[in-house]
Amino acid sequence: AYQPQMELSTGHVAGIEALLRWRHPDLGIVPPDSFIPIAEETGLIVPLGEWVLATACRQAVAWQQEGHPQLRIAVNVSARQFRQKNLGLRIETILADTGLDPVLLELELTESAVMENPEEAILTLRQLKKMGVTLSIDDFGTGYSSLSHLKHFPIDRLKIDRSFVKHVTRDQNDATIAEAIIALAHSMKLTVVAEGIEHGEQLEFMSQRRCDTMQGYYLSRPVTADEFGEFLKKLGEVEGKGHT
Ligand code: C2E
Ligand code: CA
Ligand code: CA
Repeated sequence: AYQPQMELSTGHVAGIEALLRWRHPDLGIVPPDSFIPIAEETGLIVPLGEWVLATACRQAVAWQQEGHPQLRIAVNVSARQFRQKNLGLRIETILADTGLDPVLLELELTESAVMENPEEAILTLRQLKKMGVTLSIDDFGTGYSSLSHLKHFPIDRLKIDRSFVKHVTRDQNDATIAEAIIALAHSMKLTVVAEGIEHGEQLEFMSQRRCDTMQGYYLSRPVTADEFGEFLKKLGEVEGKGHT
């Protein structure tokens, strides 16, 4: 499934996150939270993750070929995938096979994945960065991050976890945390994405604090590739009208 992200300063859709779904013949659509931890344990996450990467890259190229504006596609990379010795090479191969420009690929990593072995992580991150891909830290604030390591990592963005966004307009502590993450990111020259935006008030909060990007049900739920194509078409019409 695909969920758009909107740039708050311009109102433009600048990216999409690919989110895995399992269409089970009896169980229907199984959400990733119920099978990714098992796939992670068994190692199946490695081929599964590669399938997600290849599918997402191919889809992004297809949207471009249909004449949609260039959108950056974000893909979740699990801790186990990140530990793979040849991750850089695998990703390079997928980019070459699908023909996606590396600047249009974003990899979302969790704090725990990059903090597990920071010395090793920095080498992998540098290699990925050299290829031109965008690197984000997902669910920021929920794991354990060493700020001294973080400042050496060649990352581009932080994603504020949904758990802080949920009550951000009602809970002073959440508001303080969200503001602190935005300030931290900007002082490190990183951009910030707020995830899980469901209401206009949350959007307003993030806009006022100069959060760069938002993602959440307020803009769109994760949808199928076809539905997203329709979403882009409508958007193009709206933006086209705006220019004339
Ligand atoms: P995540 O990376 O933090 O993804 C965001 C989750 O929040 C998605 O759940 C998305 O559907 C949901 N979400 C987005 N906007 C809203 C909102 O406004 N309100 C609420 N309540 N929820 C919102 P989803 O798709 O069930 O994915 C859950 C987690 O599974 C993801 O969390 C990610 O950690 C993992 N995941 C999903 N796809 C992949 C994948 O391809 N590879 C790996 N390794 N993990 C994946
Ligand atoms: Ca994510
Ligand atoms: Ca997240």
